[in-house]
Amino acid sequence: MTQGSKARLRVVVCAPHPDDECLIAGGLCSLLSRPGIPVHVLAFSAGEAGGCPSVRRAEFESACRRLSAHPQWVALWPDGAFAETASVQRRLQLAAVLDTYAAGDGPCLVVTWGPGGGYGHPDHVTLLEDVVAWASAHPCVALLVRDDPAQVYAPVRRWLRRRALPRLVLRDPLPWRRVCASVTVDVAEVVDVRREALACHASQLPRGGVDAFLGAVLHRIGTVERFLGDAAALTLLRAAGVPFTSSPEMDPACEFST
Ligand SMILES: [Zn+2]
Repeated sequence: MTQGSKARLRVVVCAPHPDDECLIAGGLCSLLSRPGIPVHVLAFSAGEAGGCPSVRRAEFESACRRLSAHPQWVALWPDGAFAETASVQRRLQLAAVLDTYAAGDGPCLVVTWGPGGGYGHPDHVTLLEDVVAWASAHPCVALLVRDDPAQVYAPVRRWLRRRALPRLVLRDPLPWRRVCASVTVDVAEVVDVRREALACHASQLPRGGVDAFLGAVLHRIGTVERFLGDAAALTLLRAAGVPFTSSPEMDPACEFST
Protein backbone atom coordinates (compact mmCIF):
# COMPACT_ATOMS: atom_id res chain seq x y z
CA MET A 1 0.00 0.00 0.00
CA THR A 2 1.41 3.38 -0.93
CA GLN A 3 1.36 6.36 1.43
CA GLY A 4 -1.38 7.87 -0.71
CA SER A 5 -3.67 4.85 -0.57
CA LYS A 6 -3.07 4.53 3.19
CA ALA A 7 -4.36 8.05 3.58
CA ARG A 8 -7.59 7.11 1.82
CA LEU A 9 -8.33 4.20 4.13
CA ARG A 10 -10.66 5.26 6.93
CA VAL A 11 -11.17 3.36 10.15
CA VAL A 12 -14.34 3.86 12.20
CA VAL A 13 -14.56 2.39 15.69
CA CYS A 14 -18.15 2.20 16.95
CA ALA A 15 -18.09 2.42 20.75
CA PRO A 16 -21.44 2.01 22.54
CA HIS A 17 -20.06 3.87 25.56
CA PRO A 18 -17.03 6.04 26.18
CA ASP A 19 -14.20 3.66 27.22
CA ASP A 20 -15.30 0.85 24.88
CA GLU A 21 -12.88 2.17 22.27
CA CYS A 22 -9.96 1.05 24.45
CA LEU A 23 -11.40 -2.41 25.03
CA ILE A 24 -12.60 -3.02 21.48
CA ALA A 25 -9.48 -1.93 19.69
CA GLY A 26 -7.17 0.31 21.71
CA GLY A 27 -4.05 -1.35 20.40
CA LEU A 28 -5.31 -1.66 16.84
CA CYS A 29 -6.27 2.04 16.77
CA SER A 30 -2.78 2.97 17.81
CA LEU A 31 -1.16 0.65 15.26
CA LEU A 32 -3.31 2.00 12.43
CA SER A 33 -2.95 5.69 13.31
CA ARG A 34 0.84 5.55 13.52
CA PRO A 35 1.39 5.49 9.73
CA GLY A 36 -1.19 8.25 9.30
CA ILE A 37 -4.36 6.28 8.68
CA PRO A 38 -7.31 8.32 10.01
CA VAL A 39 -9.01 6.49 12.88
CA HIS A 40 -12.38 7.88 13.95
CA VAL A 41 -13.86 6.78 17.26
CA LEU A 42 -17.60 7.27 17.72
CA ALA A 43 -19.22 7.17 21.17
CA PHE A 44 -22.88 6.31 20.70
CA SER A 45 -23.93 7.11 24.27
CA ALA A 46 -22.82 9.71 26.81
CA GLY A 47 -22.10 7.00 29.38
CA GLU A 48 -24.44 8.66 31.86
CA ALA A 49 -25.11 5.39 33.70
CA GLY A 50 -21.48 5.42 34.76
CA GLY A 51 -21.04 9.09 35.62
CA CYS A 52 -21.41 12.71 34.58
CA PRO A 53 -21.57 12.99 30.77
CA SER A 54 -19.27 16.02 30.67
CA VAL A 55 -16.64 14.13 32.64
CA ARG A 56 -17.04 11.08 30.47
CA ARG A 57 -16.74 13.15 27.33
CA ALA A 58 -13.51 14.74 28.53
CA GLU A 59 -12.12 11.30 29.41
CA PHE A 60 -13.17 9.93 26.04
CA GLU A 61 -11.49 12.74 24.16
CA SER A 62 -8.31 12.32 26.20
CA ALA A 63 -8.27 8.59 25.51
CA CYS A 64 -8.75 9.18 21.79
CA ARG A 65 -5.91 11.69 21.77
CA ARG A 66 -3.69 9.08 23.40
CA LEU A 67 -4.65 6.61 20.67
CA SER A 68 -4.02 9.30 18.01
CA ALA A 69 -7.66 8.87 16.98
CA HIS A 70 -10.35 11.43 16.17
CA PRO A 71 -13.20 11.41 18.72
CA GLN A 72 -16.80 11.95 17.66
CA TRP A 73 -19.30 12.41 20.50
CA VAL A 74 -22.43 10.99 18.86
CA ALA A 75 -24.40 10.31 22.08
CA LEU A 76 -27.52 9.19 20.25
CA TRP A 77 -29.05 6.74 22.71
CA PRO A 78 -29.49 6.44 26.50
CA ASP A 79 -26.79 4.49 28.27
CA GLY A 80 -28.11 1.05 29.19
CA ALA A 81 -31.22 1.37 27.05
CA PHE A 82 -30.26 1.43 23.38
CA ALA A 83 -32.99 -1.09 22.62
CA GLU A 84 -35.69 1.23 23.97
CA THR A 85 -35.38 3.25 20.78
CA ALA A 86 -37.26 1.48 17.99
CA SER A 87 -34.88 -0.45 15.75
CA VAL A 88 -36.12 1.28 12.61
CA GLN A 89 -35.36 4.68 14.13
CA ARG A 90 -32.03 3.52 15.56
CA ARG A 91 -30.87 2.19 12.21
CA LEU A 92 -31.82 5.38 10.40
CA GLN A 93 -29.90 7.39 12.98
CA LEU A 94 -26.90 5.07 12.73
CA ALA A 95 -26.90 5.24 8.94
CA ALA A 96 -26.96 9.04 9.06
CA VAL A 97 -23.73 8.90 11.04
CA LEU A 98 -21.91 6.03 9.30
CA ASP A 99 -22.88 6.90 5.73
CA THR A 100 -20.61 9.93 5.88
CA TYR A 101 -17.64 7.64 6.50
CA ALA A 102 -18.58 5.09 3.85
CA ALA A 103 -18.93 7.78 1.20
CA GLY A 104 -15.94 8.90 -0.82
CA ASP A 105 -12.85 7.25 -2.22
CA GLY A 106 -11.01 4.42 -0.58
CA PRO A 107 -12.01 1.60 1.72
CA CYS A 108 -13.71 1.99 5.09
CA LEU A 109 -12.97 -0.41 7.93
CA VAL A 110 -15.61 -0.49 10.69
CA VAL A 111 -14.77 -1.99 14.09
CA THR A 112 -17.07 -2.73 17.02
CA TRP A 113 -17.82 -5.30 19.74
CA GLY A 114 -18.41 -8.85 18.51
CA PRO A 115 -20.76 -11.69 19.42
CA GLY A 116 -22.15 -11.34 22.93
CA GLY A 117 -20.91 -7.75 23.11
CA GLY A 118 -17.66 -8.75 24.78
CA TYR A 119 -19.08 -9.27 28.26
CA GLY A 120 -22.78 -9.29 27.56
CA HIS A 121 -23.81 -5.64 27.81
CA PRO A 122 -27.08 -5.35 25.89
CA ASP A 123 -26.09 -1.98 24.38
CA HIS A 124 -23.01 -3.61 22.86
CA VAL A 125 -25.12 -6.34 21.29
CA THR A 126 -27.73 -3.90 20.01
CA LEU A 127 -25.09 -1.73 18.37
CA LEU A 128 -23.39 -4.79 16.87
CA GLU A 129 -26.65 -5.91 15.29
CA ASP A 130 -27.30 -2.44 13.91
CA VAL A 131 -23.77 -2.06 12.58
CA VAL A 132 -23.98 -5.48 10.91
CA ALA A 133 -27.31 -4.54 9.31
CA TRP A 134 -25.78 -1.31 8.04
CA ALA A 135 -22.60 -3.01 6.79
CA SER A 136 -24.61 -5.67 5.00
CA ALA A 137 -26.08 -2.91 2.83
CA HIS A 138 -22.62 -1.50 2.07
CA PRO A 139 -20.52 -4.08 0.22
CA CYS A 140 -17.54 -1.69 0.14
CA VAL A 141 -17.33 -1.63 3.94
CA ALA A 142 -14.97 -4.02 5.73
CA LEU A 143 -15.99 -5.18 9.18
CA LEU A 144 -13.94 -6.34 12.13
CA VAL A 145 -15.60 -7.27 15.45
CA ARG A 146 -13.94 -7.95 18.78
CA ASP A 147 -14.03 -11.60 19.84
CA ASP A 148 -12.38 -12.79 23.05
CA PRO A 149 -12.73 -16.03 24.99
CA ALA A 150 -15.60 -15.63 27.50
CA GLN A 151 -13.36 -16.01 30.54
CA VAL A 152 -11.49 -12.84 29.65
CA TYR A 153 -14.43 -10.75 30.78
CA ALA A 154 -15.49 -12.77 33.83
CA PRO A 155 -14.39 -9.95 36.23
CA VAL A 156 -16.40 -7.41 34.26
CA ARG A 157 -19.53 -9.55 34.35
CA ARG A 158 -19.23 -9.97 38.13
CA TRP A 159 -18.76 -6.24 38.60
CA LEU A 160 -21.71 -5.35 36.39
CA ARG A 161 -23.98 -7.79 38.23
CA ARG A 162 -23.10 -6.08 41.51
CA ARG A 163 -24.01 -2.71 40.00
CA ALA A 164 -27.35 -4.14 38.83
CA LEU A 165 -26.90 -2.84 35.35
CA PRO A 166 -29.23 -4.16 32.65
CA ARG A 167 -29.50 -7.90 32.30
CA LEU A 168 -26.41 -9.24 30.60
CA VAL A 169 -26.89 -11.21 27.44
CA LEU A 170 -25.31 -14.44 26.40
CA ARG A 171 -23.17 -14.87 23.37
CA ASP A 172 -25.14 -15.24 20.16
CA PRO A 173 -23.84 -16.20 16.76
CA LEU A 174 -22.71 -13.22 14.75
CA PRO A 175 -25.59 -12.37 12.45
CA TRP A 176 -23.37 -11.69 9.52
CA ARG A 177 -22.73 -13.64 6.36
CA ARG A 178 -19.43 -12.10 5.39
CA VAL A 179 -17.37 -13.30 8.36
CA CYS A 180 -14.33 -15.06 7.09
CA ALA A 181 -11.75 -15.65 9.77
CA SER A 182 -10.66 -15.11 13.33
CA VAL A 183 -7.93 -12.50 13.49
CA THR A 184 -5.32 -12.09 16.22
CA VAL A 185 -3.54 -8.74 16.10
CA ASP A 186 -0.17 -8.45 17.82
CA VAL A 187 -0.33 -5.19 19.80
CA ALA A 188 2.79 -5.78 21.91
CA GLU A 189 4.48 -2.61 20.72
CA VAL A 190 1.54 -0.41 21.74
CA VAL A 191 0.29 -2.04 24.97
CA ASP A 192 1.54 0.94 26.98
CA VAL A 193 -0.41 3.31 24.75
CA ARG A 194 -3.55 1.19 25.20
CA ARG A 195 -3.08 1.13 28.97
CA GLU A 196 -2.55 4.91 29.11
CA ALA A 197 -5.66 5.48 27.01
CA LEU A 198 -7.73 3.29 29.31
CA ALA A 199 -6.32 5.15 32.31
CA CYS A 200 -7.86 8.34 30.87
CA HIS A 201 -11.26 6.90 31.88
CA ALA A 202 -10.50 7.50 35.54
CA SER A 203 -14.17 7.77 36.56
CA GLN A 204 -14.71 4.20 35.39
CA LEU A 205 -11.80 2.69 37.26
CA PRO A 206 -11.87 1.53 40.89
CA ARG A 207 -9.49 2.61 43.57
CA GLY A 208 -6.16 1.35 42.41
CA GLY A 209 -6.72 2.65 38.93
CA VAL A 210 -6.29 0.95 35.65
CA ASP A 211 -4.39 -2.05 37.02
CA ALA A 212 -7.03 -2.84 39.63
CA PHE A 213 -10.03 -3.75 37.53
CA LEU A 214 -10.23 -3.28 33.80
CA GLY A 215 -6.48 -3.56 33.91
CA ALA A 216 -6.99 -7.12 35.10
CA VAL A 217 -8.91 -7.76 31.92
CA LEU A 218 -6.13 -6.30 29.83
CA HIS A 219 -3.69 -8.59 31.59
CA ARG A 220 -5.88 -11.54 30.62
CA ILE A 221 -5.98 -10.30 27.05
CA GLY A 222 -2.23 -9.91 27.02
CA THR A 223 -0.47 -8.41 24.05
CA VAL A 224 -3.01 -9.40 21.43
CA GLU A 225 -6.46 -8.24 20.33
CA ARG A 226 -8.79 -10.85 18.85
CA PHE A 227 -11.43 -10.21 16.20
CA LEU A 228 -13.66 -11.82 13.66
CA GLY A 229 -13.38 -10.27 10.24
CA ASP A 230 -14.27 -10.50 6.61
CA ALA A 231 -11.95 -10.93 3.67
CA ALA A 232 -11.86 -7.20 3.01
CA ALA A 233 -10.82 -6.47 6.60
CA LEU A 234 -7.97 -8.96 6.37
CA THR A 235 -6.82 -7.41 3.12
CA LEU A 236 -6.85 -3.93 4.65
CA LEU A 237 -4.96 -5.00 7.78
CA ARG A 238 -2.35 -6.70 5.67
CA ALA A 239 -1.98 -3.69 3.39
CA ALA A 240 -1.71 -1.35 6.39
CA GLY A 241 1.18 -3.39 7.77
CA VAL A 242 -0.67 -4.49 10.92
CA PRO A 243 0.97 -7.59 12.46
CA PHE A 244 -1.67 -10.31 12.72
CA THR A 245 -2.42 -13.98 12.19
CA SER A 246 -5.70 -15.37 10.95
CA SER A 247 -7.44 -18.70 11.08
CA PRO A 248 -8.66 -20.24 8.90
CA GLU A 249 -6.51 -18.83 6.19
CA MET A 250 -8.27 -16.25 4.11
CA ASP A 251 -10.34 -17.76 1.37
CA PRO A 252 -11.97 -15.17 -0.89
CA ALA A 253 -14.87 -17.54 -1.50
CA CYS A 254 -15.84 -17.61 2.15
CA GLU A 255 -16.85 -13.96 2.04
CA PHE A 256 -20.11 -15.09 0.60
CA SER A 257 -20.63 -18.21 2.64
CA THR A 258 -23.35 -18.53 5.26
ZN1 LIG B 1 -19.75 -0.41 26.95
